[in-house]
Amino acid sequence: MNPKFNLLTEEASDARDLRNTLLIGALTILVFGIMLLGTESGTGVLEIPTLETSLIALLAAFVTAGGLIALRLGRPARPTAWAALLGYTLVVTLMVHFTGGPLTPVPALYLLVVVAASFLLGKNGATLIAVLSAFCYALILFLEYSELLSMVLIWRQEFNPRERGVLLVINWLAVAVPALFTAQLAGTLAERLKTTNAHLRQSEQMRENMTEMIVHDLRNPLTSMIGGLEILRMTLGEQLDVERTNLLDNARRSGQLLLGMVEEMLTVSKMEAEAFKLNLEPLDLHALIAECAEPMRMLAEMEDLAIELELGENVGVVRCDRKLVSRVVTNLLSNALKYTPAGGNIRVTLGRAGGLVTVCVADNGIGIPVENQERIFDKFGVSTPDDRHGRRGTGLGLAFCRMAVEIHGGRIWVESAVGEGSSFFFTLPVDGPAGE
Ligand code: ADP
Repeated sequence: MNPKFNLLTEEASDARDLRNTLLIGALTILVFGIMLLGTESGTGVLEIPTLETSLIALLAAFVTAGGLIALRLGRPARPTAWAALLGYTLVVTLMVHFTGGPLTPVPALYLLVVVAASFLLGKNGATLIAVLSAFCYALILFLEYSELLSMVLIWRQEFNPRERGVLLVINWLAVAVPALFTAQLAGTLAERLKTTNAHLRQSEQMRENMTEMIVHDLRNPLTSMIGGLEILRMTLGEQLDVERTNLLDNARRSGQLLLGMVEEMLTVSKMEAEAFKLNLEPLDLHALIAECAEPMRMLAEMEDLAIELELGENVGVVRCDRKLVSRVVTNLLSNALKYTPAGGNIRVTLGRAGGLVTVCVADNGIGIPVENQERIFDKFGVSTPDDRHGRRGTGLGLAFCRMAVEIHGGRIWVESAVGEGSSFFFTLPVDGPAGE
């Protein structure tokens, strides 16, 4: 719903990274399970006990499910990540022992855990997990070497104890050193990404606050300027010649246009911050559309355009915010006026299907190329830079319309062909937004 680019908060991005890690964990368990099922136990080079490995897979699944449930319950991501990663380190260590570690690629799974730790816990956390992994692997190798733990794997070649010891140390180094390096490299990278994200979030917040401040402060002087012009027009009405009266009217109209834009910007920024409160009331859309179209008729006539209302039978009352919906209809109508050449036709239709009403504002104007039909609903998204008077649009009107419709639980879209015209549709749920 929010069209601005999506900068996650630190907690949200930690939770997302953890969720991805847990899903990778689940996938790894699945692949492992399938591989083990395909192993002919006891006949090949490896002798893998299925009971123990099944129990370990169960433990891994428990860690994954525990993490996902904790996230669902809204537990903070960092402690959950610590618990999950320590759980996975234990799972990998048990797997290494029961699948015959040094002869299989299973110890590489330690690296996967360290990479995940870099993104979830930062460089220091990842280094700690790497050291713990190296320690656990060393412990397992030592216990197996000294026969305190029986080796599941039967090495085919008969090494003497010294040779076997050297091989185990080399094997351990091949896991421990990359794990530590990975922790440093991936940890630094993850921390840089997080800092950049935080800076971006901060500047986006500052930009939003500034816009809101400027827009808010513009409203009061504009209102008093328009009020002043109205009083001037009323008091000097008789004494002014036509030219001066027109000048005054023009200034007042431009002021009102500016005020409308300022209010639109303020509403857009409030809706983006989710601080906008809908003022819902049962409304007769029929009457509301007719009310919005009335002031447009005069403008349309001046431009040699016709506005037709084909509102069909009454659709009954709709629970919606009068100010927002009026502005959506007015924006669509004023766009149709702006982008339709003289002699054109603008048609507004209204219909109801089940719990939804659909309003359509159609024109036979310049149309919008297919590649721009999505973009025009974004903030500052314009298709044709200038309207038929050569005036440059702000690209805010349709962004406002989309937010205003979506906040009601409706949808807005356009069907258009260049040179043939555009039809803007929007829907509104008759009973207002769900959950209100
Ligand atoms: P603005 O009209 O101020 O630029 P909008 O957000 O209302 O801002 O519209 C965005 C763009 O969509 C316009 O610049 C124009 O290119 C295009 N557009 C909107 N309505 C129409 C229409 N009825 N016909 C053709 N183009 C349109």
